[in-house]
Amino acid sequence: MGVRFKTQSACSALRAFSAGGKSLDSKGAYDRIFERTSSYEAAAEEENDHMDLCSTQDAWLLFHNDMVLVKSKSPLTLPSEDEGASFTDKLLHRGVLSPARGAFSWGEYPADEPAPQGFEPVGLRELWALGGDSLFHSAGTAFQMMDWRRNCRYCPRCAALMEPAEEGRAYACPQCAYVSYPTLSPAVIVAVVRDGKLLLAHGTRFPSGRYSVLAGFVEPGESLEETVEREIFEEVGIKVKDIAYFGSQPWPFPHSLMLGFTARWASGEIVPDGVEIGDADWFTPENMPEIPPSISISRKLIDHWLSGGIA
Ligand SMILES: [Zn+2]
Repeated sequence: MGVRFKTQSACSALRAFSAGGKSLDSKGAYDRIFERTSSYEAAAEEENDHMDLCSTQDAWLLFHNDMVLVKSKSPLTLPSEDEGASFTDKLLHRGVLSPARGAFSWGEYPADEPAPQGFEPVGLRELWALGGDSLFHSAGTAFQMMDWRRNCRYCPRCAALMEPAEEGRAYACPQCAYVSYPTLSPAVIVAVVRDGKLLLAHGTRFPSGRYSVLAGFVEPGESLEETVEREIFEEVGIKVKDIAYFGSQPWPFPHSLMLGFTARWASGEIVPDGVEIGDADWFTPENMPEIPPSISISRKLIDHWLSGGIA
């Protein structure tokens, strides 16, 4: 038994449930969500230490060596609530996602032990392809929480063992009162246009032949607009203007938040930095190189330009 997913469901992850081979209609699923909303709040308070409420959840996002363990890839089947009993005693970290993220239970299985029998590992990107956006966002959220938990076991200031705080949303040091919140690393990603052409670059770590819009991490003290200006200038040597917000996408590799922008060329000619950017050029819609898959915000920016959204 397990919890099966309908591939690429446009509905929320919870609507996509079918438990134990029996499909749940959406009303039934939502009734169950509302029933558990209040219990989620209670679970969040006592996450990690008192996990009895986890047993009210339908499915597990179980991580092992940064992979998600599934019962089956086809049909995609996650460990069920009942199956959780076979591994929960071993979990290093565990919690429950909010109803907005599907109310999944999540946990990290010890990396130095073989995975529990009957499960196979799936990477987050593959899970995205197999289960669609909603499940990927749930798994990405769980991965970020899991990664944060394992990285803040000890206080970075005084090395004491950290303890859950603020209703499970933070960890605090009982010795020096240092508080750790889940890690987020904001990064900008920018579609720059010039005379009907789009700036695309080949990153030195990209697959061969792949081009995309430019991106870079926000540095302390910067506004997002300043990051856009600095990153574009550092990577290809041009100045931009008319910077406008486009949209955002959580990017759990391991804890980024991609913030999309559009901008126009202001001055300068392209000079790739040769470190992060191996090649860059202005492209017309008729002369496009290989670009990222449609699931990423980089592709959404490119598609937005292709459809005439950036004049
Ligand atoms: Zn401390």
